[in-house]
Amino acid sequence: MAVFWALAALAVAVFANPAAAQSNIPGLNVVTETRLIGDATRTRFIADLTDEIDLTVFALSDPHRIVIDLPEVHFQLEQGVGDEGRGLIEAYRYGLISRGKSRIVLDLTGPVRVDEAFVLAPLDDQPARLVVDLVPAPLDEFLAAAAEYREAIAAATPARENPSVELYDNSRDGRAMIVIDPGHGGIDAGAVGADGTLEKEVVLEFATVLAGQLRATGRYEVAMTRTGDTFPSLTDRVAFARERRADLFLSIHADWLNDRSVRGTAVYTVSERASDAVTAALANSQNRSDLLAGVELANAPNEVADILIDLARRETNNFSILLARDLLDSIDDVTTLTGSPHRQAGFVVLTAPDVPSALIELGFLSNADDERNLLSTEWQRRTAAAMVQAIDRYFATRVARQSGP
Ligand SMILES: [Zn+2]
Repeated sequence: MAVFWALAALAVAVFANPAAAQSNIPGLNVVTETRLIGDATRTRFIADLTDEIDLTVFALSDPHRIVIDLPEVHFQLEQGVGDEGRGLIEAYRYGLISRGKSRIVLDLTGPVRVDEAFVLAPLDDQPARLVVDLVPAPLDEFLAAAAEYREAIAAATPARENPSVELYDNSRDGRAMIVIDPGHGGIDAGAVGADGTLEKEVVLEFATVLAGQLRATGRYEVAMTRTGDTFPSLTDRVAFARERRADLFLSIHADWLNDRSVRGTAVYTVSERASDAVTAALANSQNRSDLLAGVELANAPNEVADILIDLARRETNNFSILLARDLLDSIDDVTTLTGSPHRQAGFVVLTAPDVPSALIELGFLSNADDERNLLSTEWQRRTAAAMVQAIDRYFATRVARQSGP
């Protein structure tokens, strides 16, 4: 049976039998194995599961990808599975994309058509089996399928409100709202340390420590863009901060470089033009996060709507730079800074026009000392405390400036 694009692009739904659950984790379907078979004329992606499942298959272009969306499953797979491709599939990734929703992203070597997509029920000692068959297709057919999906999503998504340019909010008893954004998550692990430390895990740990310390001062309201192993898209993270009228947005990351001797903390603020080539490459790799997770970038809201927002952004950027300096001053007392520690780059997560934002690379997971630090609860506590001091100083300066002449 051929699944035509009209179907595949909107949704290929295969309905599960909820009575047949046999998961190791009660109630959660487990993916126990994935594999690729075939060649460049026909490539089959197979996943073994403990139970049947619904699936939605669609195409994304730029770069070419096929996305398989599932209800939440547990991936019980060895690290590195999916790094190696076969036939029409260059590589694949998997993980949680949001609460209750898992995703598999197939990177393609060229344009394809989904010829078949189905799930076989478990039989005797055989697991349930998810199968997606890809065959080569002309580029215009692939692009048309991707466009069809994009339009269907756009039609189903309510238009975002025009961004407000209100800079301050007095509704929180004078307490400032700080949004902390642990980088990556879910399907996107971020950098991987020499000892196997995952960036998405250490940055969540650190963010939780920082949030706790900020709340403990009684001076701040704190919200986190994620508190578990999920993946909000980069534009979702920005929207999250804007909806809460955040006074401050801090994105927390850990870096990675081929040169294992490089270490230390750096703070980034946004810039239309990256300050150097290294920084530009890093911004590209962070922005690639959305591509990795199979997010359609064309859905990103057009944030720079009018001149007012442009003005707000200019003021915001000055506050961001002030914040970056405060952070570096404080962090310098408790840990190592990297060379030229304040950098500017075009990170998508730093683009809220009215929220002062900074991205902190806590250290390098490629460096053994930094990796040990990142895992040390003592280092986390000390570094977070230094950041709280910096944030206190930042708000004190900012209030002084606002009430000045
Ligand atoms: Zn990162």
